[in-house]
Amino acid sequence: MPTPDVLRSLSEAMPDLEAVYRDLHAHPELAYAEHRTAAIVAARLQMDGFAVTDGIGATGVVGVLRNGEGPAVMLRADMDALPVKEQTGLDYASTATATEDTGETVPLMHACGHDVHVTCLLGAARLLAASAGLWSGTLIAVFQPAEEGRGGAQRMLTDGLFEITGKPDVVLGQHVFPHPAGTVGYRSGPFLAASDGFDVRLYGRGAHGSRPQSGVDPVVLAASTVMRLQTIVSREVAADEQAVLTVGALRAGAKANIIADHADLSLSIRSFDREVSARMVSSVRRIIEAECAASGSPRPPRFDELARFSPTVNDPVATERVAGALRALLGDDAATEIAPIMGSEDFGEFGEAASAPSVFWSLGGTDPEAYATALKAGTVDEDIPSNHSPLFAPIVQPTLTTGVSALVAAAMEWLGTSHG
Ligand code: ZN
Ligand code: ZN
Repeated sequence: MPTPDVLRSLSEAMPDLEAVYRDLHAHPELAYAEHRTAAIVAARLQMDGFAVTDGIGATGVVGVLRNGEGPAVMLRADMDALPVKEQTGLDYASTATATEDTGETVPLMHACGHDVHVTCLLGAARLLAASAGLWSGTLIAVFQPAEEGRGGAQRMLTDGLFEITGKPDVVLGQHVFPHPAGTVGYRSGPFLAASDGFDVRLYGRGAHGSRPQSGVDPVVLAASTVMRLQTIVSREVAADEQAVLTVGALRAGAKANIIADHADLSLSIRSFDREVSARMVSSVRRIIEAECAASGSPRPPRFDELARFSPTVNDPVATERVAGALRALLGDDAATEIAPIMGSEDFGEFGEAASAPSVFWSLGGTDPEAYATALKAGTVDEDIPSNHSPLFAPIVQPTLTTGVSALVAAAMEWLGTSHG
């Protein structure tokens, strides 16, 4: 049984990995500024005998371990944190801040669990390197920068990732989600949503707050626009097409007695179908332009397109193999098929660029007891903090043990079996 043999030293390795996790959690870094994280990753991979290249796609790191004939398996983790002020109360909570490109100082938090992904991949890399006699092939460990809407996967690819590593035969990865820790969830086909986003500026005309007749009020324009945008999903998307539109930011004005001259909004569109997304994008433009015209806006609105994500689509044949490995590892109750998730990822771009099947699965990170209590009360959505929440705090165990084991089991499905 090669996988249990690789995992034999996992509990011995765990105290060190838990320390790495708490350290990464306490030191989050913004997209393309993951210098400290990248240095830790590179040093550890080197120690484990990987050929390491850093600085791919700015701050990305890759380690390659060639271990005889056989398939090349790529495992991927992402490294960036988010501008969120941590409120978990953990003793290893982040108090870090960073300066955005705009010059603005922002709080920083690993609010999406990328610290879990990095730690689990470091653990899997170490265990596989230490048991090279049990498998053969090539292991490619990719640590990607800037997953959060900043195109880190694409940038690593453009920067020649596969020229360094060779093309993988399969691409595997996982993401921690607010599911019970100790469980994993897999799904064949569309798993994560396509995402489109815009920053939009709506133009008004500034005036004294007492003289609305001299101005065009961008606050009223923005308010009306936000409400109207919410009719896209309810009135323009068919009931059997899943979609979400969120206006995540709305900024206008500074003082009670001044009518501002512009309003900014940022919005995000999700669906599992590129065609549905395209229709929603054109509806967004139509509504915003029409609302500006209705308000007598002095200039047409400005649209800045944010990073686009394709839907994450798991290869059916490879998913079957991963699912089998995960069920064998964790049992049928802990490794289950789950519904698609509305979040988005650029993970799929690696498989697409390599013309290789890719499989992405979910890793539970929530205290199972808290989850069971909330499930019983029907309050999972309210009570269980999700990714990007200032309260998102994956429990260290069994999350890390499950995450390392899942990566090893999935990789060994290719590396540990007879190759054909
Ligand atoms: Zn995220
Ligand atoms: Zn994420």
